[in-house]
Amino acid sequence: MVTFDTRIRFLKGVGEARAKTLEKRGVYSVGDLLRTYPRAYEDWNKVVPLRDAAVGDTVCLRATVIERVQVARIAGGKLLCKTTIADDSGTLSLVFFNNKYVKDQLAENTEYLFFGKISLNKYGARQMLSPRFEKSLEKQRIRPVYPASPSLPSKTTERLVENALREVAGQVPEVLPAYLVQKYRLMGLEQALSNAHFPPDEAGLAAAKRRLIFEELFLLQMGLLGARSRSGGRTAPAVTVDATEEFFASLPFTPTGAQRRAVAEAVADMKRTKPMNRLLQGDVGSGKTAVAAALMYTAAKNGLQSVLMAPTEVLAAQHYRTLKAFFGDAVTVELLTGSVTAANKRKIRERLLSGETTVAVGTHAVIQNDVAFHALGLVITDEQHRFGVNQRAALASKGRDPHTLVMSATPIPRTLAMMIYGDLDISVLDELPKGRKPIRTYHVTSAYRERIYAFLKKHLDAGEQAYVVCPLVEEGDNESDLVPATEYYDYLKTNHFGGYTLGLLHGRMKPKEKDDVMRRFYAGEIRLLVSTVVIEVGVDVPNATVMVIENADRFGLSQLHQLRGRIGRGAAESFCILLSDAQNDEAKERFAIMCETTDGFAIAKKDLEMRGPGDFFGSRQHGLPDLRVANLMTDTRILYEAQKSAKEIVDGDVTLTRAEAERLHAETERLFARISFN
Ligand code: ADP
Ligand code: MG
Repeated sequence: MVTFDTRIRFLKGVGEARAKTLEKRGVYSVGDLLRTYPRAYEDWNKVVPLRDAAVGDTVCLRATVIERVQVARIAGGKLLCKTTIADDSGTLSLVFFNNKYVKDQLAENTEYLFFGKISLNKYGARQMLSPRFEKSLEKQRIRPVYPASPSLPSKTTERLVENALREVAGQVPEVLPAYLVQKYRLMGLEQALSNAHFPPDEAGLAAAKRRLIFEELFLLQMGLLGARSRSGGRTAPAVTVDATEEFFASLPFTPTGAQRRAVAEAVADMKRTKPMNRLLQGDVGSGKTAVAAALMYTAAKNGLQSVLMAPTEVLAAQHYRTLKAFFGDAVTVELLTGSVTAANKRKIRERLLSGETTVAVGTHAVIQNDVAFHALGLVITDEQHRFGVNQRAALASKGRDPHTLVMSATPIPRTLAMMIYGDLDISVLDELPKGRKPIRTYHVTSAYRERIYAFLKKHLDAGEQAYVVCPLVEEGDNESDLVPATEYYDYLKTNHFGGYTLGLLHGRMKPKEKDDVMRRFYAGEIRLLVSTVVIEVGVDVPNATVMVIENADRFGLSQLHQLRGRIGRGAAESFCILLSDAQNDEAKERFAIMCETTDGFAIAKKDLEMRGPGDFFGSRQHGLPDLRVANLMTDTRILYEAQKSAKEIVDGDVTLTRAEAERLHAETERLFARISFN
């Protein structure tokens, strides 16, 4: 018997190879397959008479092939197949390029469904180019479109889903408690799944979606409330000594009002035994690291250890150096990343366990996986763009419940944050350090390239440093107008910047090589750094004043802003040059916004408008499980209902049957298992 939990390999139509393809996409079971929703639908149900098929429309036709498919070879050895179809209202020609199967698939005097776009041929007659077609008239319905690849076309997925639905019919267990299904008039799960893949009509699809969105948001809330209530009874080590002033006095600069306020808010949290759960939001360059350092210093003065986790080795190494400089001999700091040798790692771990070392800086993976502490009091996560629901879980599972602070430059509307996280507190750094000169941003075309090189040289000669950012180094990316960073680096070195020390940084380099390059850039030895977006987050070299972004149209607005945040960190005036020949309006608008403002919140708002919330709040941004149907920005009403429902269950205001409770628990775990740590 096939159930939701049956391995995908054992579903009818799935062989060894296909199972592998599916598993690569995260589809391990029949249930996973059914939970892989279509990304769009095609209405094969609305059949249009040939006479009414208008040029430019994408339509479904039901017609008979009235002549044998003719095959011809055209320029470049391509295959061209042609035929004509007819219904009671008229005729139409079909043209297929490079499809050698068409000849055998389309038989004369046979009726098919055709789906495609109507266009005009060069003689002004209507035609349909490379339509998809079906012989089975059963396909005359609204059809799902799945993410496809050559090894797994949408049509194949459709057939598998059809098989799966047939197999599990009548035995799909309901996930939601019965009273909720009634109260909110939700469609049952089995019906909802069936409708989501094969909607009977618009209304049937809408009702199915509402149910699936409710379910997803409800399970999300159950998980979050559960995590919270689990940590609710826990206590964190409270600090008694506030060492903030002592730390600030040792800094080479005066903290901003916003930094003082954020530190004070966090220290107030840490004086309590309820674990702090705070988000520190601040635009690039607002000085989040110093806030983190002040808190770790205070923790240290209270005999507590801290960890600072960064998303990349480059950033972890930078934080390590910064903290060493801030703390001097007052607090011991160690760096723990993947490139530390095993022997050294062991020694560092021993010193953390004994309490000899007070602060550990490292990448998430390393710290989460292998480290135990003597007296861990504070966990800080930098630039994760995630709010760390999971960190707490990971660290708490080691039997600790430290204070936590998550630092991010990605703004999220406060109302939304509160709705999602409930008791998460937020501090905002809404003030840049004094003395910063605004960054000047320009958009130029490649016609200005020579002048830009001259401009770069002028600044390098004045003792400043610069970045040149390229979009990618992916091999096999065959877009010829993009010069991979490596080649571009060689080119600049031999042709324009022979007399200067250049560095190259990209994601394919070994951590040690990256670290070496960054070290030399920090030290001022490397003057011009050619880099891919690995430079995007957090890197802080105040002496770098010019950034040239190649193929700037390749980057999203928020990404451009993050990149630009690498300059304008010192006292000298900084320049960001967006190089692009792109003509499309959207790219131009992005450049215009970049040239007009350096305000990260304004830019995020624009980005949100231009891209829509789906992209902007892609789940990777906030450390929640991947949401498949729900959208946190637009499904607010359902989110509210789901939140209320979850709360009444967690608070014990309603009683579930044992089966309901178990099922709910299992599904919540399943949803949260979709969070990945990196
Ligand atoms: P971000 O918020 O982007 O992480 P950083 O913490 O890297 O910013 O700080 C950016 C730069 O500003 C660093 O070089 C840091 O030393 C400096 N800085 C931080 N706070 C101040 C301040 N109050 N006055 C002057 N410079 C500061
Ligand atoms: Mg930072």
